[in-house]
Amino acid sequence: MVFIPDALFSEQLQSYPELWGLEKGYICWKVLGRKLADVLTKKTGTLITVEDVRIKLKKVKRSLKRLGNSEGTRYTGMCAYVWYAHKLGLTNAVDKMTSQMFAYGELPVEVDCGEVPVKVDCGEVPVKVDCGEVPVEVDCGEIPVEVDCGDIQMDTKTEKPTEKQTEKQTEDSPFTIESPDRYISSDDYSYNVNRHINNIYDEGPTTSAGAARVKKDRRLEPTVNPEEGQEIEEVDRVVPNIKALRDVVSKLTAHDKIVQLHFAEVYTDQKSIYSRSEDRLYGCGYILNQKLTETEEYRTVLVFGVRSMLTAFNMLLSAYPLTRYRGNADLIEENLTIAEKIGLDVKAVVCDKSFQNRKAVNNSASGEYNRQSVDGSKYTVVHMYDYIHILDAFRKKMVALNRQYDAALVTKVSERNAPIWGHWRRRGASLLVTSPRNLTETVQFFTPAMPAMLKIAIKREIIGSAKEIRTYELLAALTKFNSIFHSGKISSTKWQAQKAVLAEVTKYLNTTLEADLLAGETVQTIHRFMKLMDGLLEAYPGITIQAYRVSQDLLERFFCKIEPSQRKRTRSSTQIMKLINRLIKLQIEFWGSGHFTTDDYDLIEMMDYTMEDQADEEFLPFGLDGVVFDDVVTGQVTQNEEDYIWLLTGYGIAQYIREQLRCQVCLEDLTQRNEDANDPRDDVIVAHQYLKPEFAKPEVYDAFYDACDIYKSVMLKHMVEKKIGKRLQATIVARLAFFREAGSCPKGRSHRTNLLGFIINLLLIGKNWVQEDVTNVSSF
Ligand SMILES: [Zn+2]
Repeated sequence: MVFIPDALFSEQLQSYPELWGLEKGYICWKVLGRKLADVLTKKTGTLITVEDVRIKLKKVKRSLKRLGNSEGTRYTGMCAYVWYAHKLGLTNAVDKMTSQMFAYGELPVEVDCGEVPVKVDCGEVPVKVDCGEVPVEVDCGEIPVEVDCGDIQMDTKTEKPTEKQTEKQTEDSPFTIESPDRYISSDDYSYNVNRHINNIYDEGPTTSAGAARVKKDRRLEPTVNPEEGQEIEEVDRVVPNIKALRDVVSKLTAHDKIVQLHFAEVYTDQKSIYSRSEDRLYGCGYILNQKLTETEEYRTVLVFGVRSMLTAFNMLLSAYPLTRYRGNADLIEENLTIAEKIGLDVKAVVCDKSFQNRKAVNNSASGEYNRQSVDGSKYTVVHMYDYIHILDAFRKKMVALNRQYDAALVTKVSERNAPIWGHWRRRGASLLVTSPRNLTETVQFFTPAMPAMLKIAIKREIIGSAKEIRTYELLAALTKFNSIFHSGKISSTKWQAQKAVLAEVTKYLNTTLEADLLAGETVQTIHRFMKLMDGLLEAYPGITIQAYRVSQDLLERFFCKIEPSQRKRTRSSTQIMKLINRLIKLQIEFWGSGHFTTDDYDLIEMMDYTMEDQADEEFLPFGLDGVVFDDVVTGQVTQNEEDYIWLLTGYGIAQYIREQLRCQVCLEDLTQRNEDANDPRDDVIVAHQYLKPEFAKPEVYDAFYDACDIYKSVMLKHMVEKKIGKRLQATIVARLAFFREAGSCPKGRSHRTNLLGFIINLLLIGKNWVQEDVTNVSSF
């Protein structure tokens, strides 16, 4: 049986509803099955037959059914098919997957997602003290605490983002650290109301429809194909092209192929992007929230990559946009399989220490993956935590345990006794960092000058309390740890001495921090590192291994390049996916053509990260044949949203009825004179300096309020569906008589329905024209 990645299969299967087997009757495997098989063949680079597809689908269906009927079945691997279970009416299976995902961890689900998590600064800090020429990792913060459920956004077509990326810099100091795993609470919630405060001044959806159409024609497959000279367009998922990757790997040296697999998440700005021409939203997927299947914008993209431990070879493998991340053990498996298939020799899996990652690793592999390679031979892949994140976790721990440790000790000593250190400074060994504010600085912080300075301070009795000594000892041990993991050049001649250093660290951690989880995991990582190095030095005597390559900092560096200066605003998931594709393409071209570099970060650094502004699409009325959603639950509009709807109604009528249709009769039907408008909310409209909205009559406003209520309910569950605008319009028209009535206008019915469509379109594209907060008074 040929290997078909579940993510890919699930994705493609969505386009073939006839194959789902929802209705009794004949399924035309010959035609439809063949089409699907061909697509899969093309995407995987492996021959997949109709029979393979049939068997795979049968297996999936059987597993889903079994999942619904049996007790305690693991859902692993099935996550991608939640949508299918949903379609098959296997509510039991859906519930089970949901609750099992919940059982995977104890963290409560966070509901707020008002603001994009803050990234930690990425500025680079020069490495001076005893770091050799080791590159310094760049930090982008940690993984958010989330609940994952996979991501079932599956269409692979391109889209047309309709809003300009506002390159607005935040005024924050570039050096504060804010916890990225906290979503700042707000009343805002996951649909496009009040989201894009900075886009107010963008023009309405009237410009460059021609440009939009031109761009539409440039659609490409999501998989990376170096033969195609064009830029890869937006996609919602990156599926590796096995054949192309295999070709690349065939050009590599034996040393290049000795790799570790790593993964990390990059934040999105949590915006979906609406394509009018396709009538669907991109950048969103399903979430599983207890008993309900819901939809939401992607919060992060989980990226997998491989990196040689002996050379500068590295490359991205795949990327998965996620609404909630919960540690996907199945994705680790999938990527290990991909790496095997393309001919790499995976020795380790490296990730940071987030709660979700730890769950994924502990539940599936307890630190070791027993694998079987393509030729049948068995081998083991060890799991390790990224050393930079370990150092960072210890630093945070010291801050938290402030009775036992003095986290500010280094700053204190270096400030208090500044003159003493002239001796050091003159030798270029002054401390560049006394209080690390990001991961780069963390690596810089744990260099030998730091404990050396503390040691002198102890000698001179500048410090000496039990707490200070305890702090010094921990810092000294971690510096030793860093001296191997970051700066270490592991070779047969030095390895025994290097091992002795690690043994010292291990001993310290075991005796001093006996039952500590972090210490325990660090010791595990040290052990696995030693095992790994033992094996490599035995297999390749005479080599020198740069220890820092056993980390996932390449991804962090890449993520920082994706959005280097924006701390609160990053990019949409679709733009991020585009950049990921661009990098993969570059890597395939570079390594596939036999080029060579000694700089691990070369390709990441040299890539072009600029993005063309997307053309706006013109509003075209939706057709009347939309399929109604029948699971609408109304009554969910919040006060903020109500205020927004008030403005939206007036604005929509002005833009569409007055400016676009110029229908005076409808305008009189729907609006009242300024002097009759006496609702306090109208003051907002009157006061608005950029808009000239109309004042809707109360019953008109009520109709739009109800319409938006339905809109919200539909978005909660169906954001990812195709023909979303048309279906929304149909659903609202079916439920609200107002939009079926003509009023005094002979064409009133069509005018009203299209006005509704216009407003739905405004909501979908997420344009916001709410006045911007005044931030800089002097500009007035
Ligand atoms: Zn009219």
